[in-house]
Amino acid sequence: MIGFEPPPVIQRNVAMIKMLAEGMIRPIARQYDEKEHEKPWDYINLVWESQKTSNRDRLDRVLKRDEAEDGSKQETKKRPPIRYMNLVHVIEMMSWGDGGIYLCTPDAGLAGTAIEAVGTPEQKERFLTRFTEGEPKWGAMAITEPGAGSDTAAIQCTATLDPETNEWVLNGEKIFVTSGLMAAQESDGLVVVWATVDRSAGRSGIKSFVVESGTPGMTVTKVEDKLGIRASDTAAILFDDCRIPYENILGSPEVQDQTKTKGFKGAMQTFNASRPAVAASAIGIGRAALEFVKAELEKQGIEIPYCAPRHKLTAVQRDIIEMEGQLKAAWLLTLRAAWMADMKMNNPCEASMCKAKAGEAVTWITQKAVELMGPLGYSRQLLLEKWMRDAKINDLFEGTGQINKLIVARRILGFRSSQLK
Ligand SMILES: Cc1cc2nc3c(=O)[nH]c(=O)nc-3n(C[C@H](O)[C@H](O)[C@H](O)COP(=O)(O)OP(=O)(O)OC[C@H]3O[C@@H](n4cnc5c(N)ncnc54)[C@H](O)[C@@H]3O)c2cc1C
Repeated sequence: MIGFEPPPVIQRNVAMIKMLAEGMIRPIARQYDEKEHEKPWDYINLVWESQKTSNRDRLDRVLKRDEAEDGSKQETKKRPPIRYMNLVHVIEMMSWGDGGIYLCTPDAGLAGTAIEAVGTPEQKERFLTRFTEGEPKWGAMAITEPGAGSDTAAIQCTATLDPETNEWVLNGEKIFVTSGLMAAQESDGLVVVWATVDRSAGRSGIKSFVVESGTPGMTVTKVEDKLGIRASDTAAILFDDCRIPYENILGSPEVQDQTKTKGFKGAMQTFNASRPAVAASAIGIGRAALEFVKAELEKQGIEIPYCAPRHKLTAVQRDIIEMEGQLKAAWLLTLRAAWMADMKMNNPCEASMCKAKAGEAVTWITQKAVELMGPLGYSRQLLLEKWMRDAKINDLFEGTGQINKLIVARRILGFRSSQLK
């Protein structure tokens, strides 16, 4: 028999997060859904305290590992590689509490993942230390533009080097940036911005740059009103002659074969880590909906006879079994992608697979949950309608369902992106 039980350390973390989810996150979920642009400061201040400590430990480990790889020091004692496995379990449980509140948790977020993947030790220290001390801070990743979403090669935001001052000058507009307001303006955070240093070079010209909060020329122009995950801010950010030091570029500034530059590879590595995380968040929301419906059915004396032949099941029982199956399949794919990330195995196919499956499955599961509860499911009296709204984002950001399926198809069939669009 194959066991999928997480190791005790992850189980302990999940148990702690469950207490937070039940005691603090779930009770405020409705309130911050209704007051979209308000922040749950009690929650933010509480989690920031433990976030700072774990970020400090993490940064110390990353810097020590860099030193060891540099050959200048003996490699530090190896820890079991469970970072991503832990992450998906924790995110799943937080999102079970509430997907929107989870997304507004102060942290370096995707910006941190990118800096860790591509930054030099000096950049990691300079940019990530802020997430280990002081007041709550946020990081954000700004890729999407009015004319560039799925097709990142269409990015128009430019980064031009001013040889006189040795500064990059950013110009362009980014939209739909998760935590953009908090990262760019309302905390001492930062934004990782994708911009092109050479439009004619397509993807090869695209680099990422770190812009620190409060940098002149970076302005939040809009905060979206959204369908779901309303506790999380989603901002449009304008870069108007925004000057940043030369050293704020992540990876090499050279424009060459996109597969060979550390910058491009690092950007892709970000997705390999972030897609399982998005899948885990979707699954947490889906599990919340499924558990709720099952508990309500149980109160009515309706049980699920798992071993009964299919033709003996009622339509409702069949729906529940199908919902559980979809959720379990998505979770197993997510565990595989996370395990591969921990093992430092190349996982773009598995990361896209779990993200595509979880986004689609949970969109369906939460809709089904609303349907099964009848009019009450549609009412704001329950959180079910909210979970249905919150779930959909997981099928959109970090690559839509279609784009992730395209990536999976290319990988399985052995096609390049130019051959299968
Ligand atoms: C709440 C929210 C938060 C977000 N957070 C961030 C963030 O933090 N940072 C960031 O950079 N972006 C963020 N985004 C943007 C998100 O990543 C994009 O919306 C997404 O990548 C899709 O891009 P698009 O909206 O331009 O759609 P398009 O690329 O215009 O796609 C429109 C539709 O066409 C489909 N499609 C496109 N190309 C193909 C193809 N080749 N084959 C089949 N179907 C295709 C897509 O799947 C989609 O259904 C966020 C979006 C939302 C809604």
